[in-house]
Amino acid sequence: MIDSHHPTLPSLPGTDWPRMEPGWVWLCGAGPGDPGLLTLHALNALQQADVVIYDALVQDCILDWAPQARHIYAGKRGGKPSAKQRDISLQLVDLAREGLRVLRLKGGDPFVFGRGGEEAQTLVQHGVPIRIIPGISAGIGGLAYAGIPVTHRDVNQSVTFVTGHDQSGHTPSSLNWRAIAQGSQVIVIYMGMKHAGQISAALLDAGRPLDEPCAVVCSATTPDQRVLETTLGRLAADIETSGFEPPAILCIGRSVLMRQVLDWQGMLAGAAPRDLDPLGRGLPAETACGG
Ligand code: SAH
Repeated sequence: MIDSHHPTLPSLPGTDWPRMEPGWVWLCGAGPGDPGLLTLHALNALQQADVVIYDALVQDCILDWAPQARHIYAGKRGGKPSAKQRDISLQLVDLAREGLRVLRLKGGDPFVFGRGGEEAQTLVQHGVPIRIIPGISAGIGGLAYAGIPVTHRDVNQSVTFVTGHDQSGHTPSSLNWRAIAQGSQVIVIYMGMKHAGQISAALLDAGRPLDEPCAVVCSATTPDQRVLETTLGRLAADIETSGFEPPAILCIGRSVLMRQVLDWQGMLAGAAPRDLDPLGRGLPAETACGG
């Protein structure tokens, strides 16, 4: 392990990084938790910002990398009404108009179920110049930390990202769960804990099998990461007894089986892979499908 107690701040390679100008807002993804999953552009922004407005899902150690900046918490947790969203957007406008270099730091990727698009839109509507810095989204990076590849040639050629609740905190009624069930090989659900029962019932009703593999990855990429492997039929009950709390990503589909061979965190901790061929193909991985 690399010495994490090094007293200096992380430095950027080279010098040719974008300058953050006063009056600008940079909307930036912080990744799913592990500070090592920040991008270099995010680090560049942290080093220059006068003010950082951050979400609940941004880890404290990431904020430590902007010691010169004022830190403003703008968190809202899942399921709660987002009445304050407009206030946050307008606060960004105000801070920019004060001539500050504003870093809006959001968990994961700012444009993936994070209201980053709305904030960016409000800023542009108010004439505030913006830059967007993508981040690693929990539905991809978080699953990777659990040893679940969102695509794998033997499993899926598509993946569907879904939010488990809408602006009012309900399961999105605009979603056609039947179509999702029938058309999605692997379903990755953000904010799905509260409505896991409803979601799994809708998917089962539409014909997904009771024994379909599912995983719940809680606080992915952080030291508190926990993973539950279950089936669609048992998903809600197992979440209930697990005591898992949000944030969590749900993954529904056979990709979850790959964790039996790819649980690299378990292997780091000394566990052996449970099954080298979890799909039972009887072939070395690279010969599994031509090319
Ligand atoms: N923009 C974020 C998602 C924001 S919505 C992204 O791209 O990742 C918030 C939801 O993201 C949470 O309810 C949870 O479903 C998921 N999430 C974010 N961080 C997570 C983490 N570290 N572990 C598990 N799920 C996470």
